[in-house]
Amino acid sequence: MERARHILKTIFGYSEFRYNQAAAIAALLKGQDVLTLMPTGGGKSLCYQIPALIRDGAGIVVSPLIALMQDQVDALNQLGIKAAFLNSTLDHRGRREIEQALLEGALELLYIAPERLLTERMLTLLDRSDIALFAIDEAHCVSQWGHDFRKEYQQLSVLHERYPRVPRVALTATADQRTRAEIVDQLQLQQAAVFINSFDRPNIHYTIHEGQQPREQLWRFIQRQHPEDAGIVYCLSRKKVDSLAEWLKTKGREALPYHAGLSDQVRRRHQERFLREDGLIIVATIAFGMGIDKPDVRFVAHLNLPKSIEAYYQETGRAGRDGAPANAWMAYGLQDIITLRQMVQGTDAEERFKRIAHHKLEAMLGLCDLTTCRRQTLLAYFGESGAEPCGNCDNCNSPPRTWDGTQTAQKAISCVYRTGQRFGVNYVIDVLTGKDDERVRRNGHDRLSTYGIGDELTGVEWRSVFRQLIALGYLNVDVEGHGSLRLNEKCRTLLRGEFALQLRRQRKLEKPTPQKTRDEPVALGPFDESLFDALRARRLELSGEQGVPPYVIFHDSTLREMARVRPEHLRQMHRITGVGEHKLALYGETFLEVIRAHPPPALLDRELTEIVNPEPY
Ligand code: ADP
Ligand code: ZN
Repeated sequence: MERARHILKTIFGYSEFRYNQAAAIAALLKGQDVLTLMPTGGGKSLCYQIPALIRDGAGIVVSPLIALMQDQVDALNQLGIKAAFLNSTLDHRGRREIEQALLEGALELLYIAPERLLTERMLTLLDRSDIALFAIDEAHCVSQWGHDFRKEYQQLSVLHERYPRVPRVALTATADQRTRAEIVDQLQLQQAAVFINSFDRPNIHYTIHEGQQPREQLWRFIQRQHPEDAGIVYCLSRKKVDSLAEWLKTKGREALPYHAGLSDQVRRRHQERFLREDGLIIVATIAFGMGIDKPDVRFVAHLNLPKSIEAYYQETGRAGRDGAPANAWMAYGLQDIITLRQMVQGTDAEERFKRIAHHKLEAMLGLCDLTTCRRQTLLAYFGESGAEPCGNCDNCNSPPRTWDGTQTAQKAISCVYRTGQRFGVNYVIDVLTGKDDERVRRNGHDRLSTYGIGDELTGVEWRSVFRQLIALGYLNVDVEGHGSLRLNEKCRTLLRGEFALQLRRQRKLEKPTPQKTRDEPVALGPFDESLFDALRARRLELSGEQGVPPYVIFHDSTLREMARVRPEHLRQMHRITGVGEHKLALYGETFLEVIRAHPPPALLDRELTEIVNPEPY
C-alpha cells in the first residue's frame, strides 16, 4: 500500500484515497477478487488502475463503452501511463501493434470491448501474455434486470475459469440490490471482497417543481444559477428536444439536440462538442448519457418525470462528477404522469413487469410529492436508512407548506363520480369551477350538485390537486381510453373523512437556491476569476493542439485551485490537486507563465475597508 499511496501522489497528483479505494486496492494487491459499488464520480477507475501499475503484467479492462476508450486512454497517456485500447475503431495494423505490445509486456493497461475479448484469438493472446488483473467495468451490464444489458457480459465468467489466478474486479455505480446479486452470481464473484460505498452525492443539490410553465422556469434556473455552465436537459420526446434546443439558442445559449432520430454522425458530433467545448447545453432524450464521463457538468435538468427513481438517480448523477457543487433540477406536470402510465400500460410486457414498472413510477411520484428531505428518501430507497436531513435540497432549504385538502379532495372525487367516471381532468375542472361551456351543458352537467362548487380554486390550482390525488393513488387515469378519471378503492376512507389529507402547496415563484459558491472546496485566498479564465484559455489551446478534451489536461477544480493558490514555481505547482509528476513536466511551466502574466488583483474596495475598519466584536 505504500507503493499505492506513492503512485496516487506522484502520478495522479491526489493526496488521499476516497471512499473505499484503499481497501479495494489492497484486496487486489493480495490477489483477491473484488466487487466495488461506488456512486458515479466516486473514483472507480483508480481501484484497478493503481493495482495494474503495481502488479506484473497488463491490467485488462473490459468496458462496453467504445466511444469512451479513446478519452480514457488519452487521459492515462497524459499521466505517463502506458495504456491502449482494442476495439472496432482500429484498423488491422493498429490492432496488430497493440497485440504485439501486449505480448512484449509493454502495456500497463489495455481497454477492450467484451465481444472482442471473448474471441478465441484474443483469449489465445492472453494465454501468452502477463496479466495483472481483469477489471470488469459497468458490471451491471450483466444483469437482465437493468436497462443496459449486454449478453456478452454473461460469458465473462470464462475469465475466472481460464485464468483462476488472475484477480478480477467488477465495478458499477448501480445501486439496487437485485442487480448486485445478479452480478455476483453471473460473474462468479461469491468469494469476492465486496466494497459498497454510500450512494450519496453530497455535492448535488436536488430541486423538484411542479411545472406550470416549465420552459420559463427552466430558463430562470439556468440564467440565475448556470449562466455559463455546461449542463444536460432531459425531455421525453424528440420533438420537444428539438424545439427546446432551438428555443435556448434564441435565448443566447449554445444548445445542441441529441436523440435517436438524429443520424449517428450528428449525434457523435454533438456529443463530441459537448465534451470538448466549455459551457454547452445538451438537450436530449434518455438516449444520451450512458458513459458520459465529463466531470464538470454543472446541472442536469428534467423537463419530464423520469420513469423510476433508479433512472432519476442515474441521470442526475451525471452532474458534478468532479465533486464541486452541482444542481439536479426538475419540473414536471400532470401530463407526465398520464403519459408515463400510458407508456407502461401500452407495452406488451408481461403483467408482472407492468406491475413492477407501475410500482417504480409510484415511488418516483412519492419522491416528487415529498415534503421532507429528498436525499433522505433517495438514499432510503437504495437501502441506506438513517441519514440526517441534508440541508442541500429544496425541501430542506425551504420546507414546503401544506394545507388541509380533505374537503377539496372530496369535492373533486364526487365530481368525478357524478360525471360518470368518463371524463378527463380538464373537463372535471370545468364542471367544478362552473364553467359556462357548451359541452358541459349538452351533457347536463350544469345541473349536477357539484357544478360550480369549486370556484374557490383556480383551474391551475385544481390541476395541482388532481395531480396529487392521482399521484397519491386516490384517482386512476384510464390510460387505455382518453385519460378519463376513475375512483380507486382507496377513496372510501377519504370520502368518509376518516383522516385529514395534507396537500402540498405549490411554491409561487422559484426562490434561488442558496447555491454554494462554486469554488468552495478550496477555501484559500480570494478567487481570481480572470486568472481562472486565462488558465482555461491556455488549457483550451493545449487541448486543441493535442485533440483531447480539456478536462483530460486538467480539471476545472485543478485550475481553480491554481487561481487561488498562485503557485510561483514548479515545486508549489506540484502541490496542487491533480498535478502529478508527468503533468507537471508537461504543463507546469506553461501554466506558471499564465499565472505570472496575471499579477494578483488589487484588493477590492470592500476588502480594503474591512481591513481599515475591522468589524467591532
Ligand atoms: P467513476 O467512479 O465515475 O468511474 P472516475 O474513476 O472517473 O469515477 O473518477 C472521477 C474523478 O475523480 C476522476 O477525475 C478522478 O481522477 C477523480 N479521482 C478519483 N480518485 C480520486 C482521489 N482519491 N482524489 C481526488 N480525485 C480523485
Ligand atoms: Zn435535504
